[in-house]
Amino acid sequence: MIYDHVLIRYGELALKGKNQKFFINKLRSNVQKALSDFPNLSIKGKRDHMYILLNGQDYEEIIERCKDIFGIQSFSLAIKVENDEEKIKEAVLEAILLEEGKTFKITAKRPNKNFPIPSQQMNQVLGGHILRNTEGWTVNVHNPDVEIRVEIRHDATYITSKKIPGKGGLPVGSTGKSLLLLSGGIDSPVAGYLTMKRGVQLEAIHFHSPPFTSDRARQKVEDLAQTLTKFGGEIKLHLIPFTDIQQKIFQNAPENYGMTIMRRVMLRISEQVARQREILSITTGESLGQVASQTMESMHAINEVTNYPIIRPLVAMDKVDIINISKQINTYDISIRPYEDCCTIFVPKAPKTRPRREKVNQFEAPIDFTDEIEKAINDMETVTFKSSKQNQGDIYDELF
Ligand code: ATP
Ligand code: MG
Repeated sequence: MIYDHVLIRYGELALKGKNQKFFINKLRSNVQKALSDFPNLSIKGKRDHMYILLNGQDYEEIIERCKDIFGIQSFSLAIKVENDEEKIKEAVLEAILLEEGKTFKITAKRPNKNFPIPSQQMNQVLGGHILRNTEGWTVNVHNPDVEIRVEIRHDATYITSKKIPGKGGLPVGSTGKSLLLLSGGIDSPVAGYLTMKRGVQLEAIHFHSPPFTSDRARQKVEDLAQTLTKFGGEIKLHLIPFTDIQQKIFQNAPENYGMTIMRRVMLRISEQVARQREILSITTGESLGQVASQTMESMHAINEVTNYPIIRPLVAMDKVDIINISKQINTYDISIRPYEDCCTIFVPKAPKTRPRREKVNQFEAPIDFTDEIEKAINDMETVTFKSSKQNQGDIYDELF
């Protein structure tokens, strides 16, 4: 193993102007947290790039983790050597021996003009060195199988080859917090993922109706929350007992408006929880036109109960694209486990697809949910999920 650095490139982060330092520090601390079980690393955040000094650590797992950290545009393994022609030649040769292919190209850059050999000449020197000391490799400057980049900087020379794509986005925690309404379905975990990608740290809220919903259903939501920590560090999941409220709706409202009212109560409770926890927005997995609760009329009727900002990352996305993301982020297999959802249990067979605000208000007016909402929030249970190193981290329970 000769690679001793990981070179991290910023995407949008590089454009952050005055706040750039804040974003870079956030990314640095997220990288540090994601790699906290590697004690010997040191991580340096510079204005235009970040380095991880491997200090002899094996890099395979580190590379895998870097692929899931938002705020990293791309990264490469790098070799750091002294600004010395012979050392650079040696390192470039070692780098090409790790690669597969037939054709290569050397791209030298010399930000450090004190180094005596100009870039173009360095390309020839290094290319010649590889040709003399290997078999089967030839130069192709237009479409090489392998490109070896050589950056001669002031402190040292860095040699990199493959550019590994990162996830882009912004470092989680850099743009605030949102409360994700997490069901056991396919959509809401994807919505959570996309929100995190924009730098948002999540807490999640789930409404369940024991004993009508089982431990299995609860486990499913916990597994989804755990899976999402891979991208965003710690996630607190707030579990709200919803049975009493659902029964009250069921007994007092016309059946076809039950679902609309239920969603409105969910949103009221979510807003209260968010407020208590100083979270400034709510995220849902709603996607226009998917099901009865997601018609324009339905959103209009449900949204009336809050003026909290609601982030709906999926609102304009096609289901196939949502499913593709859920497969990529490993939530799909959890989401499709069969389970009872609090919504499917009490919800009528034919919910109103075009509910009207005036009607909902009329049906809701005589029902007083104050006590039930207060009780539900008091009985809320909070489970904290830690970013699991390879998904084996510790999970602990805590009562809010
Ligand atoms: P999902 O696949 O996320 O379950 P869905 O397509 O089934 O979404 P709905 O059942 O209409 O759509 O739910 C819309 C959104 O409401 C969900 O994406 C989620 O954000 C929220 N939601 C639904 N049920 C619950 C629940 N039991 N607890 C928390 N949030 C919920
Ligand atoms: Mg659902």
